[in-house]
Amino acid sequence: MTLDKKLYTLKYSPDTESHLNPNQEQCKLCENRNCTYICPAGVYEWNEDEQKLIINYENCLECGACRIACEKKAIDWKYPKGTKGVTFKQG
Ligand code: SF4
Ligand code: SF4
Repeated sequence: MTLDKKLYTLKYSPDTESHLNPNQEQCKLCENRNCTYICPAGVYEWNEDEQKLIINYENCLECGACRIACEKKAIDWKYPKGTKGVTFKQG
């Protein structure tokens, strides 16, 4: 099964506020922006015009890879509140 199809089987219940809060000042200075290509769900996008990291937090799989990959350790990351976030199915 392709990654796109696997992602389609997940159930999301997005929180009303982002659980991913990068320090945007650090992001402006970031050379590689690893988060924009390490994330399997494409959550991070760099907006060159606004000089800002766009965060599609609703799609987050809560894998934690971005925290490890962020070269500036600039991501304040916590689990979504209560029953919010992603639900993984068995099988
Ligand atoms: S890797 Fe870290 S510092 Fe760089 S753009 Fe992403 S969140 Fe910001
Ligand atoms: S926790 Fe995983 S899925 Fe969520 S934004 Fe970070 S890398 Fe992407």
